[in-house]
Amino acid sequence: MAMKTTLAETELGKVRANRESDKYLIDGHDFIDDRLIHEQIAAGRGADKSRIRDIIAKSLSIKRLDPDETAALLGVENSDLRQEMFAAARQVRDKVYGPRVVTFAPLYCSNYCVNSCLYCAFRCENSAQKRKALTIDEVRSEVRNLVNNGHKRLIVVYGEHPDSSADYMVETIRAIYDEQTDKGEIRRVNVNAAPLSVGDFRRVKEVGLGTYQVFQETYHHETYARMHPSGPKSDFRWRLYALHRAQEAGIDDVAIGALFGLYDWRFEVMGLLYHTMDLERCFNGVGPHTISFPRLEPAQKSKVASESPYRVSDEDFKTLIAVLRLSVPYTGMIVTARETAEIRRAAIEIGCTQTDASTRIGVGAYSEDYRKQEESRQQFRLGDTRELEEVVQDLARMGYMTSFCTAAYRCGRTGTKFMETAKAGAACSHLCIPNAILTFKEYLEDFASPATKQMGEKLIAERLEQLPENHKKFVADGLRRIAAGERDVRL
Ligand code: SF4
Repeated sequence: MAMKTTLAETELGKVRANRESDKYLIDGHDFIDDRLIHEQIAAGRGADKSRIRDIIAKSLSIKRLDPDETAALLGVENSDLRQEMFAAARQVRDKVYGPRVVTFAPLYCSNYCVNSCLYCAFRCENSAQKRKALTIDEVRSEVRNLVNNGHKRLIVVYGEHPDSSADYMVETIRAIYDEQTDKGEIRRVNVNAAPLSVGDFRRVKEVGLGTYQVFQETYHHETYARMHPSGPKSDFRWRLYALHRAQEAGIDDVAIGALFGLYDWRFEVMGLLYHTMDLERCFNGVGPHTISFPRLEPAQKSKVASESPYRVSDEDFKTLIAVLRLSVPYTGMIVTARETAEIRRAAIEIGCTQTDASTRIGVGAYSEDYRKQEESRQQFRLGDTRELEEVVQDLARMGYMTSFCTAAYRCGRTGTKFMETAKAGAACSHLCIPNAILTFKEYLEDFASPATKQMGEKLIAERLEQLPENHKKFVADGLRRIAAGERDVRL
């Protein structure tokens, strides 16, 4: 059932936006100044090598860049200098996050939506889309399949609709955490959903939400208005300040993103930087926990992807990842299965720290044979449908452990605590790598084939040797405990 938001509901959304978000405005304006961003991008072109190298050096000391510095990186056209940027981005990634990639799976709970985003198959006008919201029993069934596949972390996706309100989110998050199989349980539930009021954000936090993710899609005001002609999402500011409201409600792990291909990719990178800066300004230095940069993909009954003049080439995509990595060196970056395996490998090498695996984006897709899935229950097309074990093997070949760690969130190391250690480059060696080793070992024991286990054990032995002495003993002991059957061993 597709339904349209009434005018009264849209007006109500705007009133709420005014009431809850206006205090964050600067002299009555939001933090995206389109004209200024265009000027900065133009001024950044053609910076000399020494300036670019100074900017890279700042990044390597794990300091966030200023907009004029990011604009200068965006203006680099010389291919040798771009290669220097890629190499530095990799150095930053390895320094802050180390040899691990955090892995998760998306779980689509509903595809009802009241919005009309022109690029999305779920938009309310698309009558070819089969609509469904999972029942709680169906959610449990999806979770069992994901747990039995090896997953510990989910990003749960909801459309914007009265049927997937905060009440439904609370109920489904509870059900996900409740579900146990003899192979384990989900230990972290992140959410990608519509912006909420401060009060509703508080409610979803209470049931154990990990990270709340809202993508602005495009930061360019005019493009935003054109792409979102009706529904609550047509209100740019209500969405732009969603994560300010989430932080106000106590959710201190928030995630931003833009859909690249709707407008100029350089502008969107600047928008993501300004979003980071404004969150840091308002919340004691705590910016986004992760940044995402999905590229526009073909969607059912939409010509936006095929007709957009702003589609991002592979080369520009890698550049924007490197520039983001250098601009916000301490923040996690996510590349998803929208991209092909080849692009995902490149993205991880130059900056990405999280990725999904065994991804299915149909509502109910983990409980059915994927080959029988119909496009009519999907939001877009995937570029990579490899199973989790194939991704684990691939990452191991690249020298990365697959981390299923959820300890930071469950031990209260979020928000300021997380940012302080990430900015000092300390989270990795002291906490994240030990926990990556332990959760990787757990995966190898419970799910891996002999070949994967062999690759993984070799990698673990190498990484164990590189740990500081004070952690080596704890982790070695933890590995023995896991081999003996104990689970959820963590620092
Ligand atoms: S992008 Fe999100 S809000 Fe827009 S139509 Fe799709 S599901 Fe709805």
